[in-house]
Amino acid sequence: MNTADSERLASALEYSGLTSVDTHDKADVIVLNSCVVRQSAEDKVVGTLGMMKAIKRSNPDRVLALMGCMVGPKTDELKARFPYVDVFMKPQEYAPLLDLLSLDTEGCLANLTPIRPDISGYVPVIHGCDLMCTFCIIPFRRGRQVSRPMSDIVREVELLVQRGMREVTLLGQTVDAYGHDLVDETDLADLLYEVSKTDKLVRLGFLTSHPIFMTERIIQAVRDIDKVAERINLPVQSGDDNVLHNMRRRYDLVQYRNLVEKIKSIIPDVSLSTDIIVGFPGESNEEFENTLKLVEDVQFDKIHILKYSERPGTLAARKMVDDVSKEEKQYRFKVLEETQKQISYKKNMSLVGKTLDVLVNGQKGEKWEGRTKSDKLVVFDCNKDFLGEIVNLRIESASAWSLKGALV
Ligand code: SAH
Repeated sequence: MNTADSERLASALEYSGLTSVDTHDKADVIVLNSCVVRQSAEDKVVGTLGMMKAIKRSNPDRVLALMGCMVGPKTDELKARFPYVDVFMKPQEYAPLLDLLSLDTEGCLANLTPIRPDISGYVPVIHGCDLMCTFCIIPFRRGRQVSRPMSDIVREVELLVQRGMREVTLLGQTVDAYGHDLVDETDLADLLYEVSKTDKLVRLGFLTSHPIFMTERIIQAVRDIDKVAERINLPVQSGDDNVLHNMRRRYDLVQYRNLVEKIKSIIPDVSLSTDIIVGFPGESNEEFENTLKLVEDVQFDKIHILKYSERPGTLAARKMVDDVSKEEKQYRFKVLEETQKQISYKKNMSLVGKTLDVLVNGQKGEKWEGRTKSDKLVVFDCNKDFLGEIVNLRIESASAWSLKGALV
């Protein structure tokens, strides 16, 4: 989401005549976009802000802006802590910087669509989140759930595709709740149908879903629409009912497992990924073992493992004790990672010998790389430029993290 927000602000700045430079010491305007979903992310922002102090001092005319989730409802504390920052902007609030630079806000804000997008990119479709999971700071910083009108999204995707994008990932904290707050009661399935009509768009995906909003209609749309990649990120957070209850996730394990079964029956070769928090307050060894069991049973294609990090203002921070030690969190992280590594390796090995459609989206050194519909990274040798095109690659070898292919 931050990448998408940064690209949008960059585009507004570029539209009004600024150009990008490759190092911060050459810049007249520096914008730091912040994430505070975990303490480690916040620490990085604080570290970078420390470094920026000297850079700002070396040229006081330079404008330094802090944007994103670190900027909460009250900025007094931030202003006192970082007096050398010129302007603070909440997520997706670009106007304060544009005003400070005396740029025509209306004209710039109308041009937030990235000018030179990558082959694969993001389009936010629903902002904020209405759920109040006890660990999560996002609703406090990004506000209530607001869906963008479908016509705006379709227009933006058309523009991005005209400018060279070929794969679009529709973004939201709970992207599968798209449309629930709109008067005409559209949903994510409708949006997928509409957006997929965009000429020259090759592939369409969405991130991240919340299990309670995932409907059969959406799953069927994923199966039925050719351009939509058969991949679903369905954060479970824990494989234990007691922990899920304490997280206020609003589903239990039976419901989650049933949903996974339903998805697998409708889309047999679906690629499933999930997010898991280890070391949530009070998580016992036994409760962690239940998460491990879920991971072994479901056989996800990918999991994102996060060590629980207490976030100010959340219910967990106010009412629960962060009582799983750092070492134990690290241990659980490692165990889960190792388990998933073996699953991913097995899954990737089963693709060796198969021919897959790969959307070529970049080059690293001598190698080209792209992604399959199931979001697997494939590298291959080639002396022709297929950037933005789908190529058929025969998979020759695999590791837990990527595949190696050859042009057919
Ligand atoms: N909509 C998704 C969440 C997106 S936020 C959902 O269903 O919950 C991205 C991920 O950050 C979450 O899935 C969660 O695993 C992680 N996360 C959020 N708050 C966290 C915290 N306090 N500590 C550790 N991980 C956290």
